[in-house]
Amino acid sequence: MDGPTCKQSVEMMLEYLDGALTDDMLQKLQAHLGGCTPCEEFLASYRATPQICRKALARKMPDTVANKLTEFLRKELKR
Ligand SMILES: [Zn+2]
Repeated sequence: MDGPTCKQSVEMMLEYLDGALTDDMLQKLQAHLGGCTPCEEFLASYRATPQICRKALARKMPDTVANKLTEFLRKELKR
């Protein structure tokens, strides 16, 4: 079975932050993050934002945030 892509991982991160991720999905996400520096760095910076902002982001603009993150990760991966 293939692991999740970076785009899928970002979506999973948002679900995780919203408390909507299953244990099975969380394991796949963690496996991907363990081998993917751009995703690790994103998660680290995301964790540094205040919780109230994270909740607002995860709930109100998931598509916008996911798209921005995907764009960011694609740029990072091209280096
Ligand atoms: Zn990744």
